[in-house]
Amino acid sequence: MVISASKNALARRGLLFILSSPSGAGKSTIARMMLEADPQLCLSVSVTTRPPRPGEIDGTHYHFIDEATFHQLVEDNALLEWAKVFGHFYGTPKAAVKQGLREGQDFLFDIDWQGTQQLYQRAEGDVVRVFILPPSLEELHRRLRGRNTDSEEVIASRMARAQDEISHWDGYDFVVINDDVESCFTKVCQILQSERMRRARQTGLIDYVRDLMNPTDR
Ligand code: 5GP
Repeated sequence: MVISASKNALARRGLLFILSSPSGAGKSTIARMMLEADPQLCLSVSVTTRPPRPGEIDGTHYHFIDEATFHQLVEDNALLEWAKVFGHFYGTPKAAVKQGLREGQDFLFDIDWQGTQQLYQRAEGDVVRVFILPPSLEELHRRLRGRNTDSEEVIASRMARAQDEISHWDGYDFVVINDDVESCFTKVCQILQSERMRRARQTGLIDYVRDLMNPTDR
């Protein structure tokens, strides 16, 4: 008798994989690498009231909206979480995520610590929280300096923001230091793979395991 796991048995509930970090720690690069490498993972595209940066595409990087539209979404309870970050509003649209989760879709969230707390309160069992740290303050400073045109004052305020974000690292399940992009990427992928295999998430396996234990009942 051959007992094999059907496609249905491999079905599981999707998870909400959150990546947070201070800006300059390399989170966007890691997120992009994960999305390219893993077809089961899809980005939750946030709404924001901040203007697009050069190269950003509406609907791909963010849904760029005005403040009135944002407040309407909040009022309509259409956001899973939202926060004001550096003077602009950001939020996660609810509909796409809810539907996707039911279908076993995993979502990647590039959101800050405030949004992470809200998502965790709403969907604790589905949430995996990963925080990425820079290898050193000097390296963070070098990365934040970015364009040589920024004044020392602007750089100092970016450093202060980054250090404030780092202070929230204890609200995360996993912490990875990004001292090497490839190795950080590998570690974050390992976290995702392990979390997918949690027994509690693999609800589709119940019948399969029952068959393995009692093959004669089939
Ligand atoms: P940026 O403007 O540089 O793209 O993002 C600024 C900060 O806002 C980053 O820390 C980013 O993770 C966070 N962020 C982006 N989208 C959301 C969102 O939907 N909700 C929350 N809470 N934070 C977000």
